Amino acid sequence: MVGPLVGVLALQGAFAAHAEILDGLGVPNLEVRTHDQLQQVDALIIPGGESTTMSMLLDRSGLIGPLEERLRDGLPVLGTCAGLILLSTRILDGRPDQHALGSIDLDVRRNGYGTQLDSFETDIAVAGFDSGFRAVFIRAPVVERAGDSVEILAMVDGHPVLCRQGSVTVAAFHPELSNDNRIHRSFVERVPVNPKSDTSAI
Ligand code: GLN
Repeated sequence: MVGPLVGVLALQGAFAAHAEILDGLGVPNLEVRTHDQLQQVDALIIPGGESTTMSMLLDRSGLIGPLEERLRDGLPVLGTCAGLILLSTRILDGRPDQHALGSIDLDVRRNGYGTQLDSFETDIAVAGFDSGFRAVFIRAPVVERAGDSVEILAMVDGHPVLCRQGSVTVAAFHPELSNDNRIHRSFVERVPVNPKSDTSAI
């Protein structure tokens, strides 16, 4: 599968496993740490990790402004776990100074599964997939509210765990850890062809 250039935000967290899945799919990808790299990519994955730390590093690296601008312009983005938290409208149990980028209309509670269940795996039914997906949850956020414009693609115990709003897809779990590339594949398939790399009109 050849595809658009997909960036993986590589300030902190589980970015390497996303790059491996993209490599396995044959999708060109780039670790994003600078403004220049962010401008080059046709889509972006914001990985799991620690949303408060990632938020602080977005500030320190100066990427926060350019990222907000690209998101406003419709950059296709896949946010997993901490990435979901960063992209949500409202963060409960967050740090007061952490960014909620507001790209998908969700209220999300950090570490919402509590200490007993802070890491678990379960098979989930994903809309459009013909068999279950093994979902790995690690100190995962709980989606407590999803706005009307949000498509819910999978649920666990009455809470959305895979959601989409326009070009923004988010997972409360870690799809890069399941040895199953279907979520990445369907994300990449929805990225519009970049006019810069489309030679069909020449
Ligand atoms: N609990 C983390 C946070 O608040 C998210 C955990 C993860 O990404 N695996 O950012």
